[in-house]
Amino acid sequence: MDRDLIDNANSLFLENHSEECFFERAIFLSWYCSKGDCRFCWMSTQKNLIRDPKKAKRRPETILAEVLISKLLDWKIEFLSGGYESYTQDELISLIKNINLIYPEKCWLNMGTLNKEELIAYRPYIKGVTGAVETINPVLHTHLCPSKPLSDIEMMFDICKEMDIDRSITIIIGLGETFDDFFLLKKFIEKYEIQRITFYALNPHKNTIFTKGPDSEYYAEWIAKTRISFPKLEIVAGSWTERLSEINLLLRAGANSITKFKSIKLFGSSYAKTVADQVSLAKREFKSNLTRLPEKDITKYLYPFPDELKIKIIEKYNMYYNNRLKKNGK
Ligand code: SF4
Repeated sequence: MDRDLIDNANSLFLENHSEECFFERAIFLSWYCSKGDCRFCWMSTQKNLIRDPKKAKRRPETILAEVLISKLLDWKIEFLSGGYESYTQDELISLIKNINLIYPEKCWLNMGTLNKEELIAYRPYIKGVTGAVETINPVLHTHLCPSKPLSDIEMMFDICKEMDIDRSITIIIGLGETFDDFFLLKKFIEKYEIQRITFYALNPHKNTIFTKGPDSEYYAEWIAKTRISFPKLEIVAGSWTERLSEINLLLRAGANSITKFKSIKLFGSSYAKTVADQVSLAKREFKSNLTRLPEKDITKYLYPFPDELKIKIIEKYNMYYNNRLKKNGK
C-alpha cells in the first residue's frame, strides 16, 4: 500500500473538514427496479423479482420508523434509495414530505435517472440527486449495467447543472476497474461539479459473476486519490460486516463518513464496538450512536401524523426496538 498517498490524503482531509464522523444510513424504499439486470446487483439474481412496483414498496410506517431510529441515534440519512420507476411522482413526494416531518434535513434522492419534469417536481423537497454511476470505465459499464447507460446519468446531471440542483454519485470498487480509470472519474467529477461521492467495496452476491470484493488497501487508494484531487469534496465510504477493520484506513484515506453495514442488525454488538474503535484509531470523533438504546416513548415526535399512521409507526418502532436494538443495546 502507498502509505504516503494515505498520509497525504489524511492531511488534506484535516485541513478542509471537521474531524467529526457519522454513520450514514441509506433509507431503502422499495424492492422493485424496472432495470433489474445490473450484473453485480442482488436484484439480478432474483428469478421472482417482484414485477409490480405497488407490491414491492416498503410500508410507509416501516420507512418512517427507520427514519426516526436514524434521527434518535444520530445517524445521518445517506440518501433515499429505490429502484427505477418504483414510485410514482405523487407517492414519492408524499413520502418525502412525511420523512421531513421526522427528519427535517433535506435528503439526497437516489431513485434512478430523472427527467426535467421530475426534477422540477422533487426539487423543493430534496438536497440533490444521486447518480448511481457504479463504474466509470465505459466498457465495463456497458457490460455490467446493460440497461442503464452512463449517458442517462450525464443527461440528468446536465439538467441539474442548469437548474442548480446538487449532484452526487456512487462508485463500486472491485468491478474490474484499474487505477488507469481514475482520470475518467476525475474528469466526471470536474465536468458535472459533483459535490459528494459514495464509494462501496463490491460485496459479491451469490449467483452473480463476482465472487470476491477488492482488497481494503486497493479500495482505500481509490478514496485517497479522490481526496487528493478534490480536497473539499464530501466522501462517504461503505464497509460490510466482514470488512469493518478497514474503516480506520478508509477514514485516513480521506472519507468524511461511513455507511452500508447493517447498523440495526449490528446495534450494540461487538461489531458496533469495532466500528467505534476503528473511528477512534483514525483519530476521528464518532458522533453516531451504535450501542446505547434510543428513547422508548416516541409519541412526542409523531404529533404531525394522523392517528392511524401514528399507531402504525409506533408498532414498527417497537418491533425494531424490542426485536433488534434491545438484543444487544444498553
Ligand atoms: S438499476 Fe440499481 S437496483 Fe436496478 S438492477 Fe441496476 S444496480 Fe440493481
